Amino acid sequence: MKNVIEHRGYSMGITFFGGEPLISFDKIKEIVEYTEMISETITKRYTIVTNGTLMNDEIADFMEKYHFRVTVSLDGDKTIHDAYRFFASGCGSYDMVKENYQKYNSKIQAICRITIHNGNTDVFSDVKNAVDIGFRNIAIGFDSKMSDDKFRDFYSAYNRMLMAYYEDIQKGNFYVIESIKRNINNLLFQRRISSRCNAGRAYFTLAADGSIYDCHRVVGIKELKVAQDEDNLKTLIDDHIQFINKKVTEKKSDRHSKCNFCPFVYLCGGTCYQHSYEKTGSYFSRIERDCSISKLEIEFTLKMVTSLDKTTLKEFITYCNKKD
Ligand code: SF4
Repeated sequence: MKNVIEHRGYSMGITFFGGEPLISFDKIKEIVEYTEMISETITKRYTIVTNGTLMNDEIADFMEKYHFRVTVSLDGDKTIHDAYRFFASGCGSYDMVKENYQKYNSKIQAICRITIHNGNTDVFSDVKNAVDIGFRNIAIGFDSKMSDDKFRDFYSAYNRMLMAYYEDIQKGNFYVIESIKRNINNLLFQRRISSRCNAGRAYFTLAADGSIYDCHRVVGIKELKVAQDEDNLKTLIDDHIQFINKKVTEKKSDRHSKCNFCPFVYLCGGTCYQHSYEKTGSYFSRIERDCSISKLEIEFTLKMVTSLDKTTLKEFITYCNKKD
């Protein structure tokens, strides 16, 4: 923390992942309170990804006090969620997650994280379920190990979900699909995206054993370790940032040769590094599935901003950014 604060300027974000990070709530408190103590002049943003089962009054008050961005995993309706997320007793966690969300929503305003996998492809129903519970911010991710058939089901359900989303926005029933919000803001602020998440450039993951990786998804893959808790940490990180910067802008890479003629190249940011590494052994390839989802989202965003009436669009953009 000291290192980041000394060398990296005026703002920083810290995200807590697990397993389930709230098992170590005392440690989270310690880290946040220490960070607040040594970095008064720096803007901080705290984020946590949790299964939502351990939330209580003390934790919710703490999250509210430090303006945490809380992401809760909820994979579909009760039947689907409980089939994959259950306690040691075998009892599913859906009811507890729902109850905690509804109890603490006024304090934590959580984002619902839906993970799509072979057993959960109907993102149309998943989003409807999350909205019915009360979630107003929804992030969708998919498991790169899905079978081709299941991915096709997901793609088709995603298309249907986006069509229903458009109708909801037209009717003034606003909620946020995070990927669409990101596209809108990139368009609005005319950003040229060369990396989807900026892992290895503006974002690193500190693993429990003190080693540092580009991203939480690659923790434990030895050859992708960026650094350990070493004296020359700053040099190692700086060299790595330069390496990633060079790679994502390198014209000869596989990713660039395939993306160069794409009209969406500066809105997309290319394939997730971990998905790419898993499929090809390289961070910098283009993966067809990521590409097809990215195109679907960008085409939807463009259709939306060009066809919604101006008043609704303005209200929707204001709604999307009201918490940030
Ligand atoms: S949409 Fe596909 S082709 Fe276009 S930039 Fe993204 S990954 Fe490349």
